[in-house]
Amino acid sequence: MMTITKHYIDGAFVESHGRTVTESINPTNQHVLASVMLGDEEDARRAIAAATRAFQRYSRTSKKERSEVLRRIHEVASARLGDLTDAMITEYGGVPQFATLIVRTGVEAFRQAEKALQGLALERKWDKTTVFLEPVGVAGLITAWNANALFVCLKTASALAAGCTVVVKPSELSCLQTQVLLECLHDAGLPRGIVNVVNGLGDTVGAELVRNPNVAKISFTGSAAVGEKIMRDGAATMKRVTLELGGKSPNILLDDVDFSKAIPMALGIAFMNSGQACAAGTRLLVPKSRLGEIKRTIVDAMGAFVVGDPADPKTVIGPMVSKKQYERVQSYIRKGMDEGAELLVGGEGHPRGLEHGNFIKPTVFTGVSNDMTIAQEEIFGPVLCVIGYDTVDEAVDIANDSRYGLHAFVSGADIQRARRVASQIRVGRVVVNGMRDDPQAPWGGFKHSGVGREYGAFGIEAFLEPRAILE
Ligand code: NAD
Repeated sequence: MMTITKHYIDGAFVESHGRTVTESINPTNQHVLASVMLGDEEDARRAIAAATRAFQRYSRTSKKERSEVLRRIHEVASARLGDLTDAMITEYGGVPQFATLIVRTGVEAFRQAEKALQGLALERKWDKTTVFLEPVGVAGLITAWNANALFVCLKTASALAAGCTVVVKPSELSCLQTQVLLECLHDAGLPRGIVNVVNGLGDTVGAELVRNPNVAKISFTGSAAVGEKIMRDGAATMKRVTLELGGKSPNILLDDVDFSKAIPMALGIAFMNSGQACAAGTRLLVPKSRLGEIKRTIVDAMGAFVVGDPADPKTVIGPMVSKKQYERVQSYIRKGMDEGAELLVGGEGHPRGLEHGNFIKPTVFTGVSNDMTIAQEEIFGPVLCVIGYDTVDEAVDIANDSRYGLHAFVSGADIQRARRVASQIRVGRVVVNGMRDDPQAPWGGFKHSGVGREYGAFGIEAFLEPRAILE
């Protein structure tokens, strides 16, 4: 069993001032993996002080110097891809195909930030005016557990590219992944204090970052409820915020798609990362006239979504990260049945033979109306709501009838029509005909899905503040 007692502050591993100990539990079998000493407000303040000192020099670095920092981290972290992926599989229960993708995307974020920085004009001039894009200050980076390594890398890469120094408060459920990342940051031999990391809880270490006047910016990935609190509490020190919050993404299948291909794809989009994905397409909007055929295709396709131990290569859906998350998903499955949705596949309880871990039966509800709780609230587990529509306009209305606006999917053979539909959905990203990513395209949400954008130049700009000089 591993024991973690240190944070990473001012270029060194330092003993925790906070003395509360938590355990990291393997969600596949409930075995204890590690004991972790959690930091407190004093650890956070020490890290903020180190980042504040380092900002004096790092904020004045050139693009070339920042690129060198990003390249060094990328190089060291690339050599640890296997260790990072293993940590995500063991500690979070991620299935290898998805954990590998997440970790690769995270490490790649350093290279992508370097690329975006080259194309970003940090100085803009007209007449007798010059505008300089200045690093905003010390940034507090707070992450969620469902892709902790990716969020830590992405936020750190963007902030460093902008010339900010950072204090990271990773998810308290992700200490093993964080530990590997810390070793990478240390081995990269960075200037002291530009990256500091404190393990701890949200209401101690996270809250200190939000309230501390020496932190200029919070970049947060997590729930809408905590995002609202950060915005409220951060107002006292006029924090700049980037909030990447929840989603309830619609996936519209138009009536000209080939359902035999579109349905397996839609299930993959709903159940990605075992359903613990903010972008998951958890509201599947289908033409009512084709419902019978669609239900049969779903039942046939579900056989491919094998639940089990992530170590087994056949597994597509792993356990929920924690018992708490398991219970939360169960409560939504019960809620769906209570509200009168039809249970097509899955249901309450563990899948047979998997009672020892936080495993859920992948569940598909049909006969869902968009005002049901299961269609409005983020479940964050492998639960899909199928909602019928009569016309394309109605499908767009249903898609937009949500407090969230993070991601959406549209599939249709007539690409012009699919594009028209995509342009009417009020979300930060719409993917047409499939599932893909572009590391330079903005990521973030409308409405309660958050504030601001990450990735590429958009992500770096979130850590910059313009200063105009007029002569
Ligand atoms: P959470 O909001 O409970 O916690 C997120 C982080 O915030 C954790 O590190 C936690 O310790 C910290 N925190 C909690 N209270 C805090 C406080 N008062 N002040 C400062 N920090 C605090 O979310 P979670 O359960 O870890 O993650 C799941 C949520 O994250 C889901 O809602 C999901 O949709 C969202 N998410 C969004 C994106 C996106 O890109 N939009 C990506 C992944 C996950």
